[in-house]
Amino acid sequence: MTEQFLHYIWKYRLFDHRNLITTKGEVVEVKNPGIHNQDAGPDFSHAKVRIHGTLWAGNVELHLFTSQWMQHGHQNNEAYDNVILHVVYEHDADNDDGIPVLELRHHISSDILLNYERMMLIKDGLPCSNHLPVIDDFTASNWLERMLIERIEDKTKVIDESLKQNSNNWEQTFYHLLARNFGFKTNALPFELLAKNTPVEYLAKHKDQLLQIEAMLFGNAGLLPVNPINEYEANLAREYNLLKNKFNSISTNKSLWKFLRMRPFNFPTVRIAQFAALIHKSAHLFSKIIDVKNLKEIHQLFDVHASQYWDEHYHFGKKADVQKKHLGTDAINNITINTIVPLLFYYGKIKDSERHVKLSLKLLEEIPAERNNITKKFLTLNVQNDKASISQAFIQLHNNYCMHKKCLQCAIGLKIMKQ
Ligand code: SF4
Repeated sequence: MTEQFLHYIWKYRLFDHRNLITTKGEVVEVKNPGIHNQDAGPDFSHAKVRIHGTLWAGNVELHLFTSQWMQHGHQNNEAYDNVILHVVYEHDADNDDGIPVLELRHHISSDILLNYERMMLIKDGLPCSNHLPVIDDFTASNWLERMLIERIEDKTKVIDESLKQNSNNWEQTFYHLLARNFGFKTNALPFELLAKNTPVEYLAKHKDQLLQIEAMLFGNAGLLPVNPINEYEANLAREYNLLKNKFNSISTNKSLWKFLRMRPFNFPTVRIAQFAALIHKSAHLFSKIIDVKNLKEIHQLFDVHASQYWDEHYHFGKKADVQKKHLGTDAINNITINTIVPLLFYYGKIKDSERHVKLSLKLLEEIPAERNNITKKFLTLNVQNDKASISQAFIQLHNNYCMHKKCLQCAIGLKIMKQ
């Protein structure tokens, strides 16, 4: 038994309520265990307990042993003056402070303790994996809905920060977030730096000239070849030399870009060319995004491909088999999940627009589920993982709860304890 687990048992009333009596023999009836307090002071506030026929309202303090009350010096701390009940796992000493003591040891089923201990001992995989098949759909679905909102809210913290840095300029903020997403995991940072070094309003001034947009982006990325070997490269170099002085450009350190162990289609050169094509196709992207109505419109907006040179290249100077470099369905879905959904959700909250909040959630219903090592772990749970709203919820649950064994804060964990 740990004090944390005793708190859990009290909070969720996971003890036998029959024949509860204080150490002085007074009958106890728990009307409300109170609100769990994570800060200093008594463990639960606003509790309601009937003791020997009188209804009391106030704080409840929990310890493994009665003697800890004195050890912790609560008798000299006025924050504990309003404690109406001292709940202990084991009564080991009489305190003469007059606060009724309730010993819970004989009211807690050994199955609960065993379930908990077994789960905490599991080293590989999910602590609750053996129990997942018996978790009912209602419990799982409700909890996953909450996980999904938590995940989106976590992602909106970055938007909030970025918006502050950009003095509430939504267009610029979206452009930075989008650039970061275009780097996917491996090149997220250099892509973000590139966007910060290449303000969207500079690019907007050249929105009709794809070559100039490419020149600014490749030049500021530090990726333009020093010695151009074909006309396209020479044109880019010429345009960049003209533009960089005009805009006082700063280039990103070339060594930040990663090509190793990547599929050529994800090379930053290809992604930058696609990013340039997107800017060329749609100026004021943010304004367009907040007007979309469904996933299809997002796909139409992002239906771009890198310019012709990249049909035969993944790198500058190295020819490859011909293949058009479209921004594929998976990439657009990834951008929708990681950038567009949090942005619409956040925008909806800030602007009090229910339409945008609802749309953000609807988009995740339209996108197929991601399949990865995390989602595989939940295969035996009675929930169909067929859309991104579920796979995103699994990722949140796994990364923020299961990995840290926070089963006591999880609705699935609670269900298991109750079983
Ligand atoms: S946090 Fe919940 S889902 Fe994750 S292992 Fe614990 S009980 Fe299972």
